[in-house]
Amino acid sequence: FIDTTLCTACRGCQVACKNWNRNGTIPTKNTGSHQNPPDLDGNTFKLVRFSEVETDGKVAWYFFADQCRHCLVPPCKDTIEGYVDDAVIQDEATGAVVFLEKSKEAPHEEVTSSCPYDIPRHREKGPMVKCTMCIDRVSNGLKPACVKVCPTGAMNFGELDEMIALANERLAKLKPKYPKAQLLDADEVRVIYLVVDD
Ligand code: SF4
Ligand code: SF4
Repeated sequence: FIDTTLCTACRGCQVACKNWNRNGTIPTKNTGSHQNPPDLDGNTFKLVRFSEVETDGKVAWYFFADQCRHCLVPPCKDTIEGYVDDAVIQDEATGAVVFLEKSKEAPHEEVTSSCPYDIPRHREKGPMVKCTMCIDRVSNGLKPACVKVCPTGAMNFGELDEMIALANERLAKLKPKYPKAQLLDADEVRVIYLVVDD
């Protein structure tokens, strides 16, 4: 459960994700935004997106730690397996959707565009990649790296009923101040976001 209202955009989660997954970095370039790198890529499975919007005549600055939602019924899996068998695992215990090396044989752009959240990327000559839900940590009793480092409580990980209860509790608390507050696709995914604007 990711409560975007508690995110301060420290990007600890983004760095922890790179660190745990041994994903490389590139030199920082100023692209006119604090969002860096500018998008998810073959070495970036989690990205804090920054957006400035005008809402009710005021400027709002939102932070959104984007990653795979681990859909209950993942369209990316169907797309990849339309081309190559057994290239995606959906872990029974956690529901984590994990791409295997063989996924590189599926057409990359088609896989990315089949994801409702535009998440999968590919490595040059390598597999399709994305967040693994830190299945290697979770199956050993650890929290995902991004959750472990989050200092504000924006990132949470646990049993579904606990996370749904926490999400609904936070939603009820925020609704009076933010009438547009909502949980995103909570019945369809395993990574549930709370946002306060469209
Ligand atoms: Fe696949 Fe996208 Fe769903 Fe992740 S969010 S499981 S990449 S369809
Ligand atoms: Fe990265 Fe692991 Fe968090 Fe997924 S669960 S975004 S792989 S740190």
